[in-house]
Amino acid sequence: MSKKYITTTLPYVNAEPHIGYAMEVVRADVWVRRQRLSQRNETFFNLGVDEHGLKIYQRAKELGLKPQAYCDQQAAKWRELSQTLNLSEHNFIRTTDEHHIKAVQEFWRQAKNNGFIYKKNYQAKYCVGCELEKTESELVDGGCPLHPKQALQIIEEENYFFKFSEFQQPLLDLYAKNSEFVVPAHRFNEIKSFVKAGLQDFSISRLKTKMPWGIEVPGDETQVIYVWFDALINYISALGWPSSAKATEGKPGLLSAKVGDPGAFYDWWPAVQVAGKDNLRQQSAMWQAMLMAVNLPPSKQVFINSFLTSNGQKMSKSLGNVIAPQELTVKFGADGTRYLLASLNTFGDDMDITLAGLTDKYNAELANGLGNLISRVFKLASDYSSTELRQQAEASGEVLDFARTINDFMEVMKFSEAIEKIKAKIDWANKYIDDTKLWELVKNDKDKSQKILAELLGVIIAAGESLQSIMPQTTEKILAGARAEKIVKGEGLFPRVL
Ligand SMILES: [Zn+2]
Repeated sequence: MSKKYITTTLPYVNAEPHIGYAMEVVRADVWVRRQRLSQRNETFFNLGVDEHGLKIYQRAKELGLKPQAYCDQQAAKWRELSQTLNLSEHNFIRTTDEHHIKAVQEFWRQAKNNGFIYKKNYQAKYCVGCELEKTESELVDGGCPLHPKQALQIIEEENYFFKFSEFQQPLLDLYAKNSEFVVPAHRFNEIKSFVKAGLQDFSISRLKTKMPWGIEVPGDETQVIYVWFDALINYISALGWPSSAKATEGKPGLLSAKVGDPGAFYDWWPAVQVAGKDNLRQQSAMWQAMLMAVNLPPSKQVFINSFLTSNGQKMSKSLGNVIAPQELTVKFGADGTRYLLASLNTFGDDMDITLAGLTDKYNAELANGLGNLISRVFKLASDYSSTELRQQAEASGEVLDFARTINDFMEVMKFSEAIEKIKAKIDWANKYIDDTKLWELVKNDKDKSQKILAELLGVIIAAGESLQSIMPQTTEKILAGARAEKIVKGEGLFPRVL
């Protein structure tokens, strides 16, 4: 049994849970459930929130709250998503967690001891929205293209710097050795060009008098650690690093099973990482260089998703086109929402969605497609021996072949392609019922209709198994129904939505 670790990015806790994030975590959850189901891998799935930085500090101040109290309040909103989206994470990290703070400080010490941290005076333009420095070439009309309404901050102070510039060649070597380190390929090319163009050292601390809400720099109480440098380390602090990286007597790792045990770190690390396209540089270059600075192996793979837009525009409160995750779960249930989010092709251009479009898709593919197929087949099959139908269905081997094809797509997170295949199979099955007029045939030709029903049951079992990680609750009902001692017409699984 091998161990697989997947982590999503940490959203800033001050934001409201949004659909782009819901898509990211659902996709990670689908992948991790598939690992558990199909290959019996042991898994670890990390989620969490980023609680430090200037914008959180400023927002707490505006509300008259202590930053920690404000973070506690906000973190609860993000945690709720695990319930509403039926996520199966093992860990929910908060960057204000004690063990994370200690890990960040230890990481800093090691990077400094290895000679990758130094101090200097500098001046920079800083976008609080991104919590990133902006170079002149990145600005549009003198502002951040992602936050055009927010004035840039001018930072002029003495800070600690990370020697990012020293990692150009090591990063290029890493990319050359791992031909699918970043997926999809066009994002991989983008990051390669960025690194090839040369890397600038960046500031990794702020003066505490100006920005007190962060982790203190070890050995310098006047400075706090820059929020990105702090937050990225969560991917290893979640595994109990540094203590879990320490070997126990005898052989380290391998035998130890639990995350956080001494020696267990290398059983789990490196991680598969999932992120949005705005995180490309941070995840696939900055974080990888940081890992190299403390002699840790790079991430296993980084999957980069496109953005969601609505009616061709970025979702924003002022445009009134925001779709909240809760709106979807109320309307489509957890499974319906997971299906709709998983079916988006996130490796191409930005994806446009509207509530009306999602409703049509749900009705067409789940209520009319899969739901209708199941209720028709189960109803017609109720006069036949369930055992015989099932034996016939499973003997064909088609169920297995189909599941294998789907698995290949699922492994590389091509969920939209997996769903297309399943959908085609369901459409074929519904048409088969119409073409053979099966509801009449069952009255006149028992043998022939039994053969057809067995084929159709095979499609239902294949679809149920293939969709298990996407719709865990509903597929449990589908498979239980198809495998019951006596198949009966059951409840409607996907009620039509208006
Ligand atoms: Zn910005």
